[in-house]
Amino acid sequence: MQRREFLKLTLGAGAIGTLYVAGMIKTSHAQSSNPAITQPSLPFKKEGLEPYISAKTIEFHYGKHHAGYVSKTNQLITGTGYEKMPLVDIIQKTAGVADKAAIFNNAAQVFNHTFYWNSMHPKGGGKPTGKIGQKIEESYENHQKFTESFLDAAVSQFGSGWAWVVLDAGKLKIIKTTNADTPVAHGIKPILTIDVWEHAYYLDYQNRRADYVRAFIEHLINWEFAEQNLAD
Ligand code: FE
Repeated sequence: MQRREFLKLTLGAGAIGTLYVAGMIKTSHAQSSNPAITQPSLPFKKEGLEPYISAKTIEFHYGKHHAGYVSKTNQLITGTGYEKMPLVDIIQKTAGVADKAAIFNNAAQVFNHTFYWNSMHPKGGGKPTGKIGQKIEESYENHQKFTESFLDAAVSQFGSGWAWVVLDAGKLKIIKTTNADTPVAHGIKPILTIDVWEHAYYLDYQNRRADYVRAFIEHLINWEFAEQNLAD
């Protein structure tokens, strides 16, 4: 129930540009104790993804890394023109601007991590049915080819970054981004994502990124979230 309410809150609006306005951002904040950017609650319990992702990983990843990006973004935008902007606007306006790289990196990581938490579900993974299943078959012939492409993108991303399923000209496409880079910076609509920074898997899988990605595909992908993104 908690997860469904969260999804409704964050995904109620139509376009990706407005997706996160309701869920993540308070656009007015007269006091510093009421920050512009807030960290949404996790859509599952911290031990909810075990045995594939441990509570310990979630504690660090959500509680330290993601929280850190939220706090740093607020620190960097306070007193600037970005202070009252929706998160996606901040990301798009700072993308590629050399002296705004710190704001971009932190704001994009806030968005990416929220999208990542929602891309997983304790009872997720496997072969989807419904509209998303149909879209995968249209775009990739079959589920097997889709999973191979996703695994390949996530494993081959050199160093830190993300692998994404995005919607491009009505078809699903798999892309990867480096460091904090994010499809929304380029006006591309994300459907699902996996974090392949080492902090996402090292405690549970050490250097075995492929095992982490396989577990994500087989047991964690939140197809309901993907289908909602497809419909928006
Ligand atoms: Fe991360």
